[in-house]
Amino acid sequence: MYYLPPLSLYIHIPWCIKKCYYCDFNSHELTKQVSYIDYINHLLLDLKNDFYLISNREIYTIFIGGGTPNLIDINSMDILINGIRKILNFSENIEITIEINPGITNDNILSFYKNVGINRISIGAQSFNINHLKSLGRIHNPKDIKNTIELVKKFELNNFNIDLMYGLPNQSIKEAINDLYQTISLNPSHISWYQLTIEPNTFFSSQCIDLPNEKILLSIFQKGHSLLRKAGYQQYEISNYSKPNYFCKHNLNYWYFGDYIGIGCGAHGKITQPDGQTLRTIKNRHPKKFMKGLYLSRKYFISENDKPFEYFINRFRLTSAVCRKEFEFSTGLKENFIRAHMDIAIEKGYIFETKENWQLSKKGKLFLNDLLELFIID
Ligand code: SF4
Repeated sequence: MYYLPPLSLYIHIPWCIKKCYYCDFNSHELTKQVSYIDYINHLLLDLKNDFYLISNREIYTIFIGGGTPNLIDINSMDILINGIRKILNFSENIEITIEINPGITNDNILSFYKNVGINRISIGAQSFNINHLKSLGRIHNPKDIKNTIELVKKFELNNFNIDLMYGLPNQSIKEAINDLYQTISLNPSHISWYQLTIEPNTFFSSQCIDLPNEKILLSIFQKGHSLLRKAGYQQYEISNYSKPNYFCKHNLNYWYFGDYIGIGCGAHGKITQPDGQTLRTIKNRHPKKFMKGLYLSRKYFISENDKPFEYFINRFRLTSAVCRKEFEFSTGLKENFIRAHMDIAIEKGYIFETKENWQLSKKGKLFLNDLLELFIID
């Protein structure tokens, strides 16, 4: 049988109390009451519909993302987690992550997460500066973040991530680095440290926003990166840093081109079939449509020509070298399939090749988009 990579499950919760000004995720501002239990029942049906695609394989990680997953009441979340347990086999050391918004977290929610088996918490802090939080349209304040982390620690949910952004409107180098100091002082096992980008169809994209210039951004990155290193965090992906052995297994599975089922509004799935074909599933984005039972928007097999680009766009996010054998078993393609393209990448100085590995050069990191374009095969 064909090599089947680890299998994860992504669950999308599509609502937020208020849409943040920079957000281009599939999240819908709550304007009227929503029946969460109805949505949970649809999620379980969506999962049952996909079940035939996974040949009874074990689930290695689960990620409940959004949107704002901690909007879902405890009873509904209990039905979701226990419903999934009845459908899927969990691996022994399964990682189960939930994203939470500090503005709406309390004791009951966190003690429930601990009891139901959630073992990784990802906290959307973004900044510890009240003015910047306001300018991003976030609903929480710095005290909410600290209170949430106190609760996370109280319930010994020790594997927790803090999401932090830099390059915010009018943010100085000092402010950005102060945000990192505050983050590190809370001792998270993992820090996702992203640069703010203005995406189309967001509130910010319709405004004149004053973002820090390239020189300031570079200085923030260099100072911040060295601060994180000194504090014992290892960068393993463009924006992700962790203490040793606390990498996010779920995201690593995406970046290693692993498999995942995606359930809920707009969720994507990638599932390798026993014959070696790779199926892509895309669910309907809008809750109205999804909650009418219309889950699947599209499904198709990823063509051989598309696989190298899809593989490298994920894999080159990681700092570790790409094992040449890993390319073959992850994509099911022989190296010859991309040899000519790889030779150009090496010739242009984007990649160093050894007998075993391909390693991105400094130039490759800097011109990543140009490098990736080399693997677009017609
Ligand atoms: S809380 Fe997250 S998902 Fe919701 S609007 Fe803000 S950034 Fe988007």
